[in-house]
Amino acid sequence: MLNPAATARRAIPSVDRLLKLDPVGALIAEYGRPLVVETIRAVLDEQRALLNGDGAVSLDENSLLATCSARLHAATSASLKPVFNLTGTVLHTNLGRALLPQTAAQAALMAMTRAVNLEFDLGGGARGERDSHVEAWLKRLTGAETALVVNNNAAAVYLVLNTLALRKEVIVSRGELIEIGGAFRIPDIMARAGCRLREVGTTNRTHARDYTQAVSTRTAAIMKVHASNYAIQGFTASVPEDDLAAIAREHELPFLIDLGSGSLVDLERYGLPHEPTPRETIANGADVVTFSGDKLLGGPQCGLIVGRKELIAKIRKNPMKRALRVDKVTLAALEATLRLYADPERLTRELPTLRLLTRPRAEIETQAQRVLPAIVAAVAGCADAQIIACASQIGSGALPVEALPSAGIALTPRAKRKGTAAAAIADAFRALPVPVIGRIKGNAFILDLRCLDDEAGFIAQLHQLKIQSLATEVTEHTEKSKTRSNK
Ligand SMILES: *Cc1c(COP(=O)(O)O)cnc(C)c1O
Repeated sequence: MLNPAATARRAIPSVDRLLKLDPVGALIAEYGRPLVVETIRAVLDEQRALLNGDGAVSLDENSLLATCSARLHAATSASLKPVFNLTGTVLHTNLGRALLPQTAAQAALMAMTRAVNLEFDLGGGARGERDSHVEAWLKRLTGAETALVVNNNAAAVYLVLNTLALRKEVIVSRGELIEIGGAFRIPDIMARAGCRLREVGTTNRTHARDYTQAVSTRTAAIMKVHASNYAIQGFTASVPEDDLAAIAREHELPFLIDLGSGSLVDLERYGLPHEPTPRETIANGADVVTFSGDKLLGGPQCGLIVGRKELIAKIRKNPMKRALRVDKVTLAALEATLRLYADPERLTRELPTLRLLTRPRAEIETQAQRVLPAIVAAVAGCADAQIIACASQIGSGALPVEALPSAGIALTPRAKRKGTAAAAIADAFRALPVPVIGRIKGNAFILDLRCLDDEAGFIAQLHQLKIQSLATEVTEHTEKSKTRSNK
């Protein structure tokens, strides 16, 4: 006699049997046979395992196939996908930083799908240099003698230090030993680049004499790091760039500046707070300047190194340049982005980063009034929605203190345990087909509309917000946090 579990196990259909069912043909056409067989096998194995554990099993062939179909869909849908960045941080590192201009996207597509003269001199037919495609623009826009491009600014800093200061000391102010986004720390990059950090001054004050007293035969360079994601305020002192340049020159040392964001235009002309430009730092006497391509510049991820010919030539010859170089797609997008800077008048229209940064508060508030009714309807019964004044940030380390006046919508949950319910609203917005990312402040979920481009698309999916499950999620969250706090 078979026991009931064994009977049930025999009743679970075989892989072959399921493969013969009609709907499977459509699955195979869509996902390919190997993936379908693998998924059916996995689902059936799970059912068998459930039997051993007294769990409820499904023996119905149609429902088993439905499970397989859902699994296949989930497993093959794109992992990297668009989201609505309503965090209020325009250059959000976790959301991919700068949105590329249309012309850059077109240039990237061209480079992806066609053969290009990446390292080929069309004039002489000889081998060319890949950075040459952007060198002229970078020289023109920064006033530097020459330029080169690597994978990102962290790579740029690494390559500069590794080339110019290997096994020697680099003098940096204690107030500038920054960490960016957890993974990029100046002291760590310096160690990996093979140089010794010579810290001078104190956290809040560093003077010219601190630098001059630190110079020795071991010194390879003086470096200044733009304090991009924080500000030291109060009783502070730092040495102006031109004074540092003079000290470096006096001791025949290169003066390096890591700008981080580095805007190619003076942001003040667009009514934004000032951010140092590579042109200013070069004019102040910097010998090599590094900055990011996908921060304020508004282009693809890359790191720009601009400065003196003889130093850049050495950096170019470093074997690590090959390991850190950018691909044709990045170069195509970067060239197209830089070309837009030829006409600063059109820049706010054509460069998404600058367009979003300069959106006036009044315009954003008008947009908030337009989308408010759809949001009110979507969260009805679960939360109250109201238009609020808020402050956006540039992000990615630029201008940490200054905030941009903006407008948004605050969703305040109606549930009793408010702190956790705001998180439940955030979960529901993230679960939309195009996930909406906002931020939680106090007991409210805030959507800053500064970066809301596709307003129609945003409104069109709001009816899918799981209002019912939002209500249950609110309780679930409350339950979960209860269990957590009981532990
Ligand atoms: C952002 C930043 C970096 C790192 O640049 P990535 O492009 O993220 O590699 C380095 N230094 C400073 C000062 C920065 O702001």
